[in-house]
Amino acid sequence: MASQIYLDWNASAPLADSARAAMAHAFGMAGNPSSVHAAGRAARKLVEDARIAIAETAGAGEARIVFTGGGTEANALALNGFAADECLMSAVEHDCVWTKLAGAGVVPVDANGTVDLREFERLLAERKPKLVAVMLANNETGAIQPVAEIARLAHGAGARVHCDGVQAFGRIPVDFAALGVDTMAVSAHKIGGPQGVGALVARKGAVLQPLVAGGGQEQGLRAGTQNVAGIAGFAAAARVTAPMSPALRDRLETALRETYVGCVIHAAGAPRLPNTSCIGMPGVPAQTQVMALDLGGFAVSAGAACSSGKVKASRTLAAMGAGSGAGEAIRVSLGPTTTQNEIDEFARAWTALAMRLAPLPAAAA
Ligand code: PLP
Repeated sequence: MASQIYLDWNASAPLADSARAAMAHAFGMAGNPSSVHAAGRAARKLVEDARIAIAETAGAGEARIVFTGGGTEANALALNGFAADECLMSAVEHDCVWTKLAGAGVVPVDANGTVDLREFERLLAERKPKLVAVMLANNETGAIQPVAEIARLAHGAGARVHCDGVQAFGRIPVDFAALGVDTMAVSAHKIGGPQGVGALVARKGAVLQPLVAGGGQEQGLRAGTQNVAGIAGFAAAARVTAPMSPALRDRLETALRETYVGCVIHAAGAPRLPNTSCIGMPGVPAQTQVMALDLGGFAVSAGAACSSGKVKASRTLAAMGAGSGAGEAIRVSLGPTTTQNEIDEFARAWTALAMRLAPLPAAAA
């Protein structure tokens, strides 16, 4: 539906013009980046320039950048070789980390979705993990984790630290060096780059076990001819990212709260991504809300949609103690081109839906 208002940037951002142009340019080139001739060297240059751009955006000047087939693969590469029972992860990790580390110790979060540091310290001492996995920003609520503090504590206990930076990268200033983690996953399509491209940022000296072996590409850490056009598109998108303002997100939340007293904003008390709002409509299944809003011309998503499109109650919201609210929240995620008009239209549509499906006295007319 061409006229749909797109408010699902955390699922995937529209391709940025700069990425489209960079990819078109790369598609016009013939070389394999591993070839020594001029065409190969030109392709190689695109990849190496992109490596610098991603490192700069991630505040990772000294680190290695390994290009992958997306954020999921970057997470898997960082975690490869670790047995789940020698790891700790937060209760709100993305499914790709959660599944890969199934059986790991789980660090609880508070009602705002941030890691309980006291419990984390207790688990560190009790389980003496080899690796700790914690995301920088949650994909459903936007809650930002105290990653630098977690890394400091984990390193003090001799554990390695992996951070899923997929939703934070390009949306808030991310400083790999200051976070102090060993590895961090990032992805192109959350910031206007193409889908199916990502990278693992790895501290120099962090030993990685490749998922795909064979060729020597990507410093022997990811065999296979690089996706040159995708990588060029990723870098072009990264070069034009800028931290977002929370103004429109805040405007939306204020409007919903003022017009419908039952509205729940999950993780509202946590430091959050400026573009993400996780909104509960009590008593109404998330899937019903998403479908009704879709028919009304708005693209939003339920907290946890699987690839089948089915919606289950959100594991993240359940971990925050949301109870039945875990199945009644939608995620509204904004991007740099989202307009005030779009937000106001959405707020009107959401409130009308709430008054129809879950009538409550209006707090303000
Ligand atoms: N990690 C987080 C926090 C995400 O939100 C996503 C995508 O939704 C991923 C990892 C996976 O990234 P990709 O889609 O590039 O595989």
